[in-house]
Amino acid sequence: MSQSIELAHRRRSRISTAVGRRGAAALAAVALAAPAAAAELPSGAARVQAEALAGDGAWRLVASLTGEVGPRFAGSAGDAAAILWAEAGLRELGFPVVRREPVRVPRWLRGEATGEIVAPWPQPVKLLALGGSVGTPAEGIEAEVVAVEDLAALEQLDDGAVRGRIVFFHRRMRRAVDGAGYGETVAIRTRGAATAAKKGAVAVVIRSVGTDSNRLPHTGTTRYEEDGPRIPAAALSAPDADLLERQLASGRAVRLRLALGCRHEGEADSANVIGEFPGSAAPEEIVLLVAHRDSWDVGTGAQDNGTGVAVVVEAARLVASASGGAARRTLRVVLTANEEFGLSGARAYAAAYGAQIPAHVLALEADSGGGRVLALRTRFAPADAAATDELLGRLAPLGVSLVEGEATGGADLTPLRPLGVPLADLEQDRSAYFDVHHTDNDTLDKIDPEALRQVTAAFATAAEWAANREARLLPAPVPPAAERP
Ligand code: ZN
Ligand code: ZN
Repeated sequence: MSQSIELAHRRRSRISTAVGRRGAAALAAVALAAPAAAAELPSGAARVQAEALAGDGAWRLVASLTGEVGPRFAGSAGDAAAILWAEAGLRELGFPVVRREPVRVPRWLRGEATGEIVAPWPQPVKLLALGGSVGTPAEGIEAEVVAVEDLAALEQLDDGAVRGRIVFFHRRMRRAVDGAGYGETVAIRTRGAATAAKKGAVAVVIRSVGTDSNRLPHTGTTRYEEDGPRIPAAALSAPDADLLERQLASGRAVRLRLALGCRHEGEADSANVIGEFPGSAAPEEIVLLVAHRDSWDVGTGAQDNGTGVAVVVEAARLVASASGGAARRTLRVVLTANEEFGLSGARAYAAAYGAQIPAHVLALEADSGGGRVLALRTRFAPADAAATDELLGRLAPLGVSLVEGEATGGADLTPLRPLGVPLADLEQDRSAYFDVHHTDNDTLDKIDPEALRQVTAAFATAAEWAANREARLLPAPVPPAAERP
């Protein structure tokens, strides 16, 4: 066992004894631990880390994407511009293979959104339509507000208390290093409107799913049931949700009016953009690096997901360059279409490359903003149990530790996970990510260039390891059909 791997082992047991469970506490402990020594780091890892930590390739990419393309929501003019940007950028960076694979995406247009408290103390509020929401009539919808914390609380109410009203979900998202507060809260956004509609509500407003106190609402998808009723849905900024709560606390009837100009407009053309460095020894074996190219239509999509695009592109370039122009296996970067509004590109990829799935030796996804990588989780074949420690030994100098639990991949790996593609999750510090996520505030200035270098180094390290390792990683177990999403 090399010294660096032994060190990683010691750190790992220290962390698991001190914390003993996954989650925010485990990641916080990892964040405080000092990086292990870089002694005896294999040369490929040493090279990509030195270059990533000294360079600004990822920073220049995200600055270019946010500055020269900006928002790029599925099917928009920005989306089309981002396809051209990606193709030109990959060619310029020396990817020998660059191609575009058409993907059809749903088209939704935001329009204007206004809201005001009509009674008891009238004043305007800041809100944004949730992605996919139906619009209101031009004059808006006005109704009395009924407040509930979350979906469970709504289910407790008689339909009579909901019918004809605007339901206000006021659950607060908690800040956490691992971003766990998002998963605990986001159902009010994804399913609030569908659930309230079935109880006879006329519209829904939610407290934004975010951790900031800016007067900027957070958008994101809401989903209706196929044959269920559809009502307009919007997110209030956190201070406006506070305001609504205070007026409700008076015990007087509170009336809200909202007007949403959003509408659906069929489908549009988009594309996955793929860049490859074909492998020198085993070109048929694929190391996959995925990041979604689209963003919401607010902000400039800097943290979500300009950073992810920049990191996977720069990581692949660094690995190829450190491997003398080509690694043993093929490095494939996929910049997907429409993650935000339906995973269109991820599904298209899984459908197009179904026969090639067993040849995927590792998949990595970057979609957590620009915060430092703190922890590793893997999902490997039982026969590759030792491979996790091998990878961890290479990541340890970057301050990355193992945390409990199995890797799941990000949203765009959802279609590949049940097919047994080996996964490594590089868990990033997300404590500040949800301050700007899906808001007008998601702009370049929020990215820390130093942290972005470390993220790039971590992704490049994992990709270099999988691409140049003597033996390929074997397919991970395929869950029984009943357990697949
Ligand atoms: Zn994202
Ligand atoms: Zn997003």
